[in-house]
Amino acid sequence: SPNHASLVEFGQKHVTKGLGRQLEAVITKGSGSYVSISDGREMLDFTSGIGVTNLGHCHPRVSKAAADQCMNLVHGQCSIGFTGPYLELIEQLLPMMPHPSLDSFYFWNSGSEAVEGAIKMARMFTGRQNIIAMQGGYHGRTFGAMAVTKSKTIYSAGFHPLMPGVFTLPFPYWHQLSRPKDTPTEELSAFCLNQLHLLLSQQTTPKDTAAIIIESVIGEGGYVPAPPEFLKGLREICDQHGIMLIIDEVQSGFGRTGKNFAIEYSGVKPDIMTVAKGLANGFPLSGIISRKELTDTLAPGSMGGTYAGNAVACAAAVEVAKVFKEEKILDNVNARSQELFSSLRALQASTSTKGLIADVRGQGLMAAVEFASPKGSSPHDSFINPSAPEKLSSRVAKRCQEKGMLILTTSVYEVIRFIPALNISKADLEKGIKIFTEAVEEIVR
Ligand code: PMP
Repeated sequence: SPNHASLVEFGQKHVTKGLGRQLEAVITKGSGSYVSISDGREMLDFTSGIGVTNLGHCHPRVSKAAADQCMNLVHGQCSIGFTGPYLELIEQLLPMMPHPSLDSFYFWNSGSEAVEGAIKMARMFTGRQNIIAMQGGYHGRTFGAMAVTKSKTIYSAGFHPLMPGVFTLPFPYWHQLSRPKDTPTEELSAFCLNQLHLLLSQQTTPKDTAAIIIESVIGEGGYVPAPPEFLKGLREICDQHGIMLIIDEVQSGFGRTGKNFAIEYSGVKPDIMTVAKGLANGFPLSGIISRKELTDTLAPGSMGGTYAGNAVACAAAVEVAKVFKEEKILDNVNARSQELFSSLRALQASTSTKGLIADVRGQGLMAAVEFASPKGSSPHDSFINPSAPEKLSSRVAKRCQEKGMLILTTSVYEVIRFIPALNISKADLEKGIKIFTEAVEEIVR
């Protein structure tokens, strides 16, 4: 638009620098797998607004459902009464649950709030205080969620003291454990489970431990799926000691990994599950899901929130759930996932980029490439070391951007993540892979 430069300048002048920004432009329109930006370009979107617009931008059915709800009731307020969309959403979600015991729903606005609610519930259900979180885990930016976030110091630097009573467990990720890439996950899991036994006997006794919180796929910490044997081990230890297992599916839920919820890969039953992002395809909505027998122990009024479970957001989410089933989104995720992984593995093996890619990992359309770190390099956080050279992964993401595609990095390591819309077409997926491949080859040439 002719106003592009002046709008960007205005934004730079009046929006806090505390928000990082990948793109110095105004995003003006979204449609399917594309967004338009104010410099006149149309960008292929492999970020989905950080794993949110799973059905593509402005899915017509979802937008219409929200618009219709706007003409009927925008705000009911959950402590004043139910709304139709709130109850309809529960009806849609019940059959999708990874375990039939998950039958109690409490909706909020953001993933962070869902995590806050999960921590409060775990403390109330157990009468205990302490929480065990994963090294590399990410759960949000509010104080409780920030306290259990251990993926990058940038999220908490300068904001201490955090919520007390949080303990950190190593997570079975080869790089974080300084183990070779081909170490069997069983070995990594056994190591971490042994660390948990030690934690419970050296630092926080089970009688003081309310919950273990874990993402089914570590997201902001590097797109590392939690190995099934690790999750099963956690479940056993939780059962043994009456500790709540909180499964955070905020980023990995709603088809992202090729199943409704990534926890299904292990068959493990969550005591509390947090969801957000893909739930409403861009409308602010999150959920804390647990067992009614547990949640009925909460005192009436102890939970709440002005906008919690907003009627428009719930109406959008109802339509998301219907589209998800009717358009057979999981089938597309699994077909596109195979194409994505085989292309990334081919790039890993190709002679022009030999040795550059250490790892290709993920599930469904939650995929990542980890570049081999140069010998002697340490984890990178520009906050602690502003003079560190720009990461290779950041340079690749920027080059993709110049070539018309939005893509994100993740973690303190050299990781690029792929989170396209779950209904992305074969042609758009191929286009994205081509742009990424060219960007990598141009950067390392
Ligand atoms: N949990 C996980 C696993 C997440 O990925 C995120 C967001 N990236 C959050 C919680 C926090 O969600 P929100 O940004 O909506 O507060």
